[in-house]
Amino acid sequence: MDEALWTRVDEYLAGELIPDDPVLAQVLANSDAAGLPAIAVAPNQGAFLNLLARFGRAKTILELGTLAGYSTIWLGRALPADGRLLTLEADPAHAEVARENIALAGLSGIVELRVGAALDLLPALDEKFDLIFIDADKQSYPEYFQWAVRLSRPGTMIVADNVVRDGKVAEAGTADPRVRGVRRMHELIAAEPRVDATALQTVGTKGYDGFALALVTS
Ligand code: SAM
Repeated sequence: MDEALWTRVDEYLAGELIPDDPVLAQVLANSDAAGLPAIAVAPNQGAFLNLLARFGRAKTILELGTLAGYSTIWLGRALPADGRLLTLEADPAHAEVARENIALAGLSGIVELRVGAALDLLPALDEKFDLIFIDADKQSYPEYFQWAVRLSRPGTMIVADNVVRDGKVAEAGTADPRVRGVRRMHELIAAEPRVDATALQTVGTKGYDGFALALVTS
């Protein structure tokens, strides 16, 4: 694996295609300054999520796993002025940084951040979302996918990050609970007649990983 090459290419692609963005740069600086881990999506992945949301004309988005709000902002920027993004974050320290970053991006009016374990917060929701981004603890991905289907309507796009995990996802006998969580989610996706799905491997500044995409069809 040539991580240096992936990083060079990511930097080239982002340099060509992703305009410089002082707000997003400040968001990442705030995250670093607060000591949060550098595990947000990469800029070109944030742009991918933004394009997906706009292509699907999403008006409502649910995100599991806010961290400092970096992906939240990419997704929130895809929404119309009357759109709504609900993001769930378990760690109050992460949520505090995210709240400031979301305000910095001018998105406080359409983004709601709830603090708590997603599996505790999800049962209170009774609305349907147009796009659901799963990016919290990987052990719970099976339950997150089941909730995502419940909170979907035909046309909803469900996106899950970190589904390849350095290739470990292909190890059937793995003891790693995060990889087991991702593998179980894939089994549930395959068994769910209401979705059509795929998964893509990604390489870049964030290493070797991938996204699963499931379109709710009925
Ligand atoms: N989506 C963010 C981005 O790309 O900018 C990155 C999210 S980070 C990979 C995962 C986040 O999920 C962390 O902030 C972590 O605290 C949060 N998290 C972990 N377990 C959680 C849970 N049970 N419920 C909600 N959030 C959780």
